[in-house]
Amino acid sequence: MNLFSTASHLLEKLRAAGHTAYFAGGCVRDMLLGRAFHDIDIATSALPQQIEKLFSRTLPIGAQFGVMLVLEQQHQIQVATFRHDGRYEDGRHPTKVAFSTPQEDAKRRDFTINGLFYDPKTQEVFDYVDGQADLSHGIIRAIGNSRKRFLEDKLRLLRAIRFATVLEFEIEENTWKSLCQLAPQIHSISEERIRDELQKILLSPHRLRGFDLLDQSGLLKAILPEIENLKGCEQPPEFHPEGDVFLHTRLMLSMLPEESSLPLVLSVLFHDIGKPATRRVDAHGHMRFYAHDQVGAKITEKILQRLRFPNKIIEAVIPAVRLHMSFKDVPQMRLSTLRRMMARPTFEDELELHRVDCASSHGILENYYFLLQKRKEFSTHLLLPPPLLTGQDLIELGMKPGPQFGEILQSIRDAQLEGIIMSKKEALERVLYLNNRAMNPGEQRKLTNTHSSKKELPLMNKHSLFLNQIRNL
Ligand code: ATP
Ligand code: MG
Repeated sequence: MNLFSTASHLLEKLRAAGHTAYFAGGCVRDMLLGRAFHDIDIATSALPQQIEKLFSRTLPIGAQFGVMLVLEQQHQIQVATFRHDGRYEDGRHPTKVAFSTPQEDAKRRDFTINGLFYDPKTQEVFDYVDGQADLSHGIIRAIGNSRKRFLEDKLRLLRAIRFATVLEFEIEENTWKSLCQLAPQIHSISEERIRDELQKILLSPHRLRGFDLLDQSGLLKAILPEIENLKGCEQPPEFHPEGDVFLHTRLMLSMLPEESSLPLVLSVLFHDIGKPATRRVDAHGHMRFYAHDQVGAKITEKILQRLRFPNKIIEAVIPAVRLHMSFKDVPQMRLSTLRRMMARPTFEDELELHRVDCASSHGILENYYFLLQKRKEFSTHLLLPPPLLTGQDLIELGMKPGPQFGEILQSIRDAQLEGIIMSKKEALERVLYLNNRAMNPGEQRKLTNTHSSKKELPLMNKHSLFLNQIRNL
């Protein structure tokens, strides 16, 4: 049974036991809008103990608030007793709740579009907060006094912007005014909750609108002051006719594909975050942002840690920020360097970051097309094929591990990635060549300058062994 049928079945069971029960809140909003819903919540007159008795598998997830999780088939459905909230003291949670009526339960919810109940059997909507009208006009309006509602729970500040973004709705005037006034108080909620809402805004295809609403309301300044700091950070107009770093970043955001990964959107937001701190004007009046990519990567790490993003996300964003300037050098790169770059797990997002970086500034996409061409060329074979030689092969040849050992392997690997050698035979011949060079004291320095002790040099006198190995291949 799918989620809808399972939840409808639960509803029938509650009603058969004499209780009132409806689908409630966000799922009703999404069903009426014809949008996909990912969870269904049920609101009912049944008390937690009665819910527990009625269903075989239940979990009390907020029993003091009357919220039970009912496990049915493979689905988890929240079943909550109609309630109204008591006083809020911490800016997020009510101190106590009282079980009550559907009317009261609708009024404790945040926005009118989230305050609807629905009977899936009769398709009847129960609307105690004029939510249907706002839903059809595309309006986010706080239920009751907006200032009071935001003061109760500051998470609602961000939820308002999230719904306005994802649904492309307008925020009603009074709701907007209160939101802007209270934006600086967002910090009374946890960074994790801020992150979750921010993430939903940034992943929306309408993320630019979300970014602008965050900016205009003052929430951006409160949550990400580092981005606010990009405003007025002037750049050379010949490379950046679009304006300062903030405008450049915003323009990039507008150029991203609708479906963009979270690391990509975050990389766009933070790729130039190191510019304000590194901005210098030299004696000729040229602006420089020396090492802004390195500095930016450090700032990015701090921000993402502060917002408690998972390590997997942080580890994908940092290289994209730290290495974004290397894309300007790709036509001059050695093939081995290029292949290593293209084999990075973050490469696809880095390439897209580079595209929007160029497209939103000077507009020169030469290197982007160069990389697309390379990607096509390499698509038929592995970017990083297994190495032709390993350390074990060198040990078997009688070499002792040491710095030169690593250098030889690296050099063989580079030659392989550059297409200079293709087989193990050619690799061993190259080892022999490198070895010969190392034996020549003049050449030795070229191979390594950290190593001088003769007895630690790799195998010098076993050419016959090499040759045998090569012949045997
Ligand atoms: P989504 O599930 O898409 O994140 P949602 O509106 O369904 O959005 P949930 O967290 O699933 O959000 O909450 C379900 C319902 O509970 C909401 O629609 C709303 O009626 C109510 N609700 C959730 N969070 C709050 C809150 N902070 N203040 C008041 N009511 C809330
Ligand atoms: Mg929901």
